[in-house]
Amino acid sequence: MVESSFFPFPHVREGQREFMGDVKHAVEAGGILIAHAPTGIGKTVAALAPAVQYAIENEKTVFFLTSKRSQHKIAIDTLRLINERNGLNLTAVDITSKQSMCPRAVSIYREFYSLFNEFCKNEQRNRRCWYYMNHDEEALARIRCEIMHVEELCEWCKTRRVCPYKAALEVGKTADVIVCDYNHLFSRDIAAKVLEKIEKGLDELIVIVDEAHNLPDRIRNNLSSELRLKTISETARGIRNIDREMYNNLIEMEMILKKLVTNAARAKRAEITVDRDFLIGELEKMLRRRIEVMSYNEFVNAIRSRAEAIQESVSTDGESGREILQSNLVSISDFLDAWTTEEKCLRILSINDNPTLSLKLLDPSVLSEPVFRGAHATVMMSGTLYPVEMYADVLGAARINGREIALREYKSPFPRENRLIAVTKGLTTKYTRRGEAMYRRIGEKIEGIAENVRGGMAVFFPSYALLKAILAYLSPQVRRRVMVERREMGKVERNRLYEQLRDEESRILFAVQGGSFSEGMDYESNILKAIIVVGLPLSPPTLEVKATQGYYTGKYGAEKGRLYGYLYPAITKVLQAAGRGIRSEHDRCIIILMDYRFAQFPYKRCLPPDFDMIFTDRVEDLCKSFFNSGSGRE
Ligand code: SF4
Repeated sequence: MVESSFFPFPHVREGQREFMGDVKHAVEAGGILIAHAPTGIGKTVAALAPAVQYAIENEKTVFFLTSKRSQHKIAIDTLRLINERNGLNLTAVDITSKQSMCPRAVSIYREFYSLFNEFCKNEQRNRRCWYYMNHDEEALARIRCEIMHVEELCEWCKTRRVCPYKAALEVGKTADVIVCDYNHLFSRDIAAKVLEKIEKGLDELIVIVDEAHNLPDRIRNNLSSELRLKTISETARGIRNIDREMYNNLIEMEMILKKLVTNAARAKRAEITVDRDFLIGELEKMLRRRIEVMSYNEFVNAIRSRAEAIQESVSTDGESGREILQSNLVSISDFLDAWTTEEKCLRILSINDNPTLSLKLLDPSVLSEPVFRGAHATVMMSGTLYPVEMYADVLGAARINGREIALREYKSPFPRENRLIAVTKGLTTKYTRRGEAMYRRIGEKIEGIAENVRGGMAVFFPSYALLKAILAYLSPQVRRRVMVERREMGKVERNRLYEQLRDEESRILFAVQGGSFSEGMDYESNILKAIIVVGLPLSPPTLEVKATQGYYTGKYGAEKGRLYGYLYPAITKVLQAAGRGIRSEHDRCIIILMDYRFAQFPYKRCLPPDFDMIFTDRVEDLCKSFFNSGSGRE
């Protein structure tokens, strides 16, 4: 018997039944499920079928949260299938960010959220947005009864001249399922507004977090902010002839920070911490000396008001210089506003060519724990949610009393023989062993593997610097096959590179771990026959790494502090990169971890138990036999 009668397929896969049963139990018991569910289990449908069934029977709403556009699409297609096969009348809305849905957003607004937000607020307040003012019941009725992808919804709303974001939230009031981004629930400002608009409390929601390994960093980034000193001086220059008082204030603010930079440079420090109250105190002292005396908060508001005033002129004269000035003003006011937070944050001034003051949230559970506590039930799932215990700790689920918490790891349903994992002996990117000799040996090993791989291959490095250093040791024939990811590449260029890799067999992609090619990209049709993960992407001992490690040490002890703050973030990147090769049951791929530390304590212990690794210095032979064996024959 299938765990949910809403499951739309005749057969359930290995692991899928178990996962679906756990989801069903979690939603019925009002619990929390944290699931490491490898690719291929079919987790989207296995999570949605029992959750939607429970939601309909108990008047709840499923919030399906994902960080990827491709996952929005999969979720909506799955809901259509559940709807059709069960003859339901589901209402499901697909929502992305307001600025990406807005039919009026010009490119600069898509880039700067705060700038767009100011624009949208002004347009609503001044009753200038016809899309917002237009209420169209017919348009809403179609969204209610037809399950649309967000692009279709936006197109439909555009033809009806209604605001797509407003319409989607309006329909959200009666929706069975809302597919949206993490921000809609894991960001204080947006979550409060969304819940108010859809007129629901957290306890009415069944929350499903897809690709949940991204959640800690996404929350950290949402509550983090940075400000380049250059932005302050550019803004001051831009405002000079418009607002002399603000010009003087910004110049003095820059001087306060420059003094810190000079002192740090004298002490030969690459970065220093800056105390929250120190900066607030120094700015208040400065503001008290001005002709127009004001408090810190009044200063922040004055900058924001100035940006809004420029907004008015931008909409009429459209000068791009003014738009940049406006976005800079919004960036400064947002940063100073964020700086006042009482949350546990790390505040760093980095001293480089472009000194930057940054504010980084240390503990993502400040946002996730209240959601888990308040929601009816939560399911967090990902193919690399490993170890599940860490995610339960870091996101605060482990601290919630009175709720059933299940930590689960499921086995990959793909044939084991389709994946071979090897660790190479003698090679490493350990700091103390780095140098020309090691780079040459790694380059030679990559060449040896490339000669024995039939089809496309990707090599993922811990950094762009190492990628470049090792690329230099490849022979011209192999180098001709290589395509290199560059840091500044945009989406269009990345897609072009991907298409080249897909269309031209025997291409080799050189990219970085933790980047778009090793995490965001879905490689279809077994494009990658081999993946090499060069080295461990352990972060250098920056103030941030030390502070994160120290923070978790204080909370969970020294061992977990090192694991959570230092080792696991690197291992997650490795697992993401290694997982790019096998996306379906027919795919075959050899994964080579090119650093002997993967076979040693403590790193080996951090890898999932189904990572059966062969420790070898003859990886070329392994490749040969892997591609000659059985179904590996091309
Ligand atoms: S109200 Fe809607 S249509 Fe109008 S500016 Fe805002 S997001 Fe765009």
